[in-house]
Amino acid sequence: MLAQQISSVPGSGTAAAREAAEIAAEAGGQLIDLTGGQVIIEPPSSLAEGAIAAINAGTNQYTDSIGLKSSCKAFADKLSAQTGLGWNTEEIPITAGAKQGLLDAIPGVLEPADEVIIIRPCWPTFQSQVILAGAKPVFVEARSPTYVPEIIAIRTAVTPRTKAIIINSLNNATCAVSDQTPPQTIGDLAINYLLWIVSDECYSSLAFTGARQESIVMAHLGPRSGTILINAFHKELAITGWRQGYFVAAPEVVAAAKKLHSYTTSTPNVAILDHLQFGDGSFERTMHQRLSLARKTDLRILPGLVDVPTPSAEGSFFFYLNLSRFFADVTVNPSVRSATIAYDWS
Ligand code: PMP
Repeated sequence: MLAQQISSVPGSGTAAAREAAEIAAEAGGQLIDLTGGQVIIEPPSSLAEGAIAAINAGTNQYTDSIGLKSSCKAFADKLSAQTGLGWNTEEIPITAGAKQGLLDAIPGVLEPADEVIIIRPCWPTFQSQVILAGAKPVFVEARSPTYVPEIIAIRTAVTPRTKAIIINSLNNATCAVSDQTPPQTIGDLAINYLLWIVSDECYSSLAFTGARQESIVMAHLGPRSGTILINAFHKELAITGWRQGYFVAAPEVVAAAKKLHSYTTSTPNVAILDHLQFGDGSFERTMHQRLSLARKTDLRILPGLVDVPTPSAEGSFFFYLNLSRFFADVTVNPSVRSATIAYDWS
């Protein structure tokens, strides 16, 4: 059964681009891979120092399958400070990035043939993970220029088989912030139709326009027990190779993740605890300022493109360009048209 599901999802475009860049480099050429959702900037020194401290303290062994208790507590404290809501250590499993958090959460709440609403344009992994779980993705299109979905369109997509809705604000690929379909409205809908909300907020720290980037858990207290908040700490620290994410969910979802981890990855990475406990946030603020500046520079350049409307990117570090004018006769999968711009900070 799983073999059938695996064969029905496409291979990763990001992995294909990385391989193509490696092949080009081996052949003496150059292919610049802009597909990865990451910032290239030297990480904070507190991270390296913390990792060395962990090595010296002998923190090198297996931990609980959802992470060191002290790391879970540090994440719980961070989230409590950010949201103004109290979070317990037991509600927060640590994962090898947001992808693993999603892969814990999605199969954890779905039965075969359940339907899951996904707002499109979207990061293609959402639909692949739903298919891997044996469920069916149902797309609701969010349209230009805001790319914020209309609640009526979401409501129309709900059927008796709908089990969950995946939301992603700040959005990859469109950089839209969902402040026009307020998270409260999605929360109400989830309560009315008994849906799980899977809220991927891994770019939420990178909103620049003053748009309200409010976590679903702050916007709507009602569905807290039915909401799974996914995040990736390694994104905001520009250390995606260190694989450090977390999610927040009801006890039964955490228990499922614990079981799943124990049969798959065993334990998450232990190296960033020190930064979590003692980091002063200055690196995160500097990165935010630099990205904000780079975004402003690009938004001055992009209007020079002929026949390409300037995107209203509200955050993150890519721009969703509408190139349909050039592809009038070609069918393009709307979930694979994002472009990432990499910066050389030196
Ligand atoms: N969610 C979104 C919206 C993403 O764009 C990405 C990566 N590009 C991820 C999750 C997964 O990131 P990771 O597993 O590296 O944390």
